[in-house]
Amino acid sequence: MKPAPFAYRRPGTLAEAVSALAGEPDAKVLAGGQSLVPLLSMRLASPAMLVDINGIPDLDAIVVNDAGDAVEGDDGGVRVGALARHAAVLASPEVRRVQPLVPMALQHVAHATIRNRGTTVGSIVHADAAAEMPVVLALLGGSVEVEGPGGRRTIPAEELFLGPLQSSVAHDEIAVSAYVPGLAAGAGVAFDEIARRHGDYALVGAAALVEGDRVRVGYLSVGDVPTVVDLSGVADDELGEAALAHLDPPDDIHATAAYRAQLVRVLTTRVVRSARDMAEGL
Ligand SMILES: Cc1cc2nc3c(=O)[nH]c(=O)nc-3n(C[C@H](O)[C@H](O)[C@H](O)COP(=O)(O)OP(=O)(O)OC[C@H]3O[C@@H](n4cnc5c(N)ncnc54)[C@H](O)[C@@H]3O)c2cc1C
Repeated sequence: MKPAPFAYRRPGTLAEAVSALAGEPDAKVLAGGQSLVPLLSMRLASPAMLVDINGIPDLDAIVVNDAGDAVEGDDGGVRVGALARHAAVLASPEVRRVQPLVPMALQHVAHATIRNRGTTVGSIVHADAAAEMPVVLALLGGSVEVEGPGGRRTIPAEELFLGPLQSSVAHDEIAVSAYVPGLAAGAGVAFDEIARRHGDYALVGAAALVEGDRVRVGYLSVGDVPTVVDLSGVADDELGEAALAHLDPPDDIHATAAYRAQLVRVLTTRVVRSARDMAEGL
């Protein structure tokens, strides 16, 4: 199928882009187009206007800083601009050094051609509960900075994901960047997922963060939004069941709820063990 007709704007500044969005309530931001264009082609979305942000300079920055070396209030972490492609973020040795969970998860996002064009910020604000990067943002307690007619605001991860493909970025706002804190000394992270083929959306995925006695695990493809569960103090052989007490894995054409529950058990144990190993320097 072909998309329904739409107007197209390619502004050269952020201010022009915000103004174009403000002038058309049925407009959509176009970043990498790797999710939006298929939706248009299948006519699952038919906005009146696309505001293509690819002509706006400086939105592709990836800024990494160490704790104590704060840049503009980011006290140690990774800030990814709206036009930074998955591939660029994945290839950055600085990102890997400061927050290794980012590349651990990104290597599971789609295929190389899609990562060359798709943006990490676009993936986050698209808010697909089967996507990797929203879970990373939620688990690490990151945030998204947006610009709209009222100026800039920061949306913490816990206020960002409202439902399936639904975020709290307003229709007239542009996500300018996403921020995740760096990994603290002595902490560990891990990511794993099961997909039918590498690059497919995961049937279930899990990311773990271990900081001292604190153990948290984030899940994809088990609900409408990325879900983070606190498993601190849970015995190793009870991790899977403890996680499932907080989750309600769905039944759909890709997998049964019972199979997803089994994947939760297996992946939870696996990622917590790996994150602990990293924390202990093993
Ligand atoms: C075959 C295939 C397989 C894929 N597999 C995976 C996978 O396994 N895991 C995964 O996570 N993703 C997967 N993706 C999606 C991919 O990661 C996309 O890059 C990502 O979902 C969206 O990023 P984008 O830059 O392409 O956004 P776009 O497609 O341009 O936009 C997506 C949505 O976000 C909005 N948006 C984008 N950027 C902004 C912004 N800066 N401000 C405000 N709104 C914005 C758009 O308006 C639109 O609603 C896959 C895609 C394809 C085609």
